[in-house]
Amino acid sequence: EEQNRYADEKSKELEQIKVSLEEHMKQLEQSSQYKTEFLANMSHELRTPLNSVLILSQILAENKRHTLTKEEQEYAQVIHSAGNDLLLLINDVLDLSKVEAGKLEIHVDGMNVLELPSILRAQFDKVAEQKNIAFTTEIAAQLPKIFYTDEQRIHQIIKNLLSNAFKFTHLGYVHLRVAMCEPKLAASLLPEAKPDQVLAISVRDTGIGIPQDKWELVFDPFRQADGTTNRKYGGTGLGLSISKELAALLGGCITMESEEGVGSTFTLYVPTLDLQMSELITARQEA
Ligand code: ADP
Repeated sequence: EEQNRYADEKSKELEQIKVSLEEHMKQLEQSSQYKTEFLANMSHELRTPLNSVLILSQILAENKRHTLTKEEQEYAQVIHSAGNDLLLLINDVLDLSKVEAGKLEIHVDGMNVLELPSILRAQFDKVAEQKNIAFTTEIAAQLPKIFYTDEQRIHQIIKNLLSNAFKFTHLGYVHLRVAMCEPKLAASLLPEAKPDQVLAISVRDTGIGIPQDKWELVFDPFRQADGTTNRKYGGTGLGLSISKELAALLGGCITMESEEGVGSTFTLYVPTLDLQMSELITARQEA
């Protein structure tokens, strides 16, 4: 009888612990939701005044009426470019908070993969020239012409990877390769996808590389491999975390290989999405 009473007490205790844990979880979810909403609202509210700063500083910088001295015109340019940096940061924070809240929509449609290199060249050839490094691109044979995914989000991810590659490379090259992923690798990376229908887009550079003990943290929000206060490179530390979340949203992932002083390769793997799957993702987003 004593044993029974003891068991009864214990199970009541357990039940209480369970209830209080559930309450804690609810509170945590609630405050995470508040944080996300706050970030989204704040980002939105910041953009309106910032737009005035951007437009008006641009008008000043153009100095059409020749009323400004050269120095004043340069100040206006500095304001404009600082404003632009701020806008990029705000957009990044907004994107990240949306993905975290499951509120970022994806639009699946046919994407012409063969066009990808030329689109990206148009945007990065100038940077390459300025930094005096080569930008080479390669399209593997046997690519399907049309691939179902969210083209804009793919562009966003690859642009993030390319911006990093160019930022952290001072000598050598940045190489973009578009290919189908090897089925075996695809099966192990993305078990839910059809292994012969996974696209692999990689960005390889001969830049500064990332020390092994920093590999994990570079995908975390606001984290950078060089955490010192007087960092040499700008940036927010958000690019890779957003890219990682976006890749996951598209049913894919990003891998990284890197060696300090030698270079890095980041590869985005994404499956082709059929309509059924894209509906599923949308449903998950709405839930
Ligand atoms: P940001 O570039 O704005 O700092 P990211 O999230 O894009 O933020 O990158 C996080 C960190 O990862 C960078 O600060 C850098 O330390 C490291 N990193 C990313 N890409 C590269 C690269 N191609 N070569 C060397 N380091 C890189």
